[in-house]
Amino acid sequence: MDEERTQRLKRLNEEVRNCTRCPLHTGRTHAVPGDGPIGAPIMFIGEAPGFHEDQQGVPFVGRAGQFLSELLEEVGIERGQVYITNVLKCRPPGNRDPQEMEVAACRDYLDRQIELINPQVIVTLGRHSMARAFPDEKISVVHGQARRVAGRVYFPMYHPAAALHQPSLRPTLEADFAQLRELLDGRLRVEEYEPPPEVEQLSFF
Ligand code: URA
Repeated sequence: MDEERTQRLKRLNEEVRNCTRCPLHTGRTHAVPGDGPIGAPIMFIGEAPGFHEDQQGVPFVGRAGQFLSELLEEVGIERGQVYITNVLKCRPPGNRDPQEMEVAACRDYLDRQIELINPQVIVTLGRHSMARAFPDEKISVVHGQARRVAGRVYFPMYHPAAALHQPSLRPTLEADFAQLRELLDGRLRVEEYEPPPEVEQLSFF
């Protein structure tokens, strides 16, 4: 069973590496599918690869990635045991924000990754990642809250890069990682989330 899912994930990664669905493929060095084991209990979803990720084809290996590793270590989560990916699999020029058509083009890769990894908790990093699950929400309001949507638990957080640019966010991010630990240990209340009617039409990944 795991072997079959592993093979499907490998094929999906190959599809992403050869993807030409949107213009971002023309500027990439490497597409960045994702990293981590099948069956990882937590999936982190960032925004898009940056310079170093594009160079190496691996997510979160630059400064924001180092910071993510530190945050994980602080709460006793091994990076090798979680799955890490992004909303976009190719780097936008100059690290600009993802555009709607790029997010739409990449969407089914993320849906399929979630189905194959089947995580208990999905941590969204930053507003672009959060927007796929909670398009009408503000990250400043919902960060650090666990919500169950269509059988999956989502946990929105600020993006680690935001705290690198704005150091006053660092304690907030650390507190949210401490909450994530509580969630994994079954000590955090999970709110049942009813999406507004227009959001319900989205297939919840
Ligand atoms: N920022 C992201 O959102 N993703 C990465 O992979 C690296 C930096």
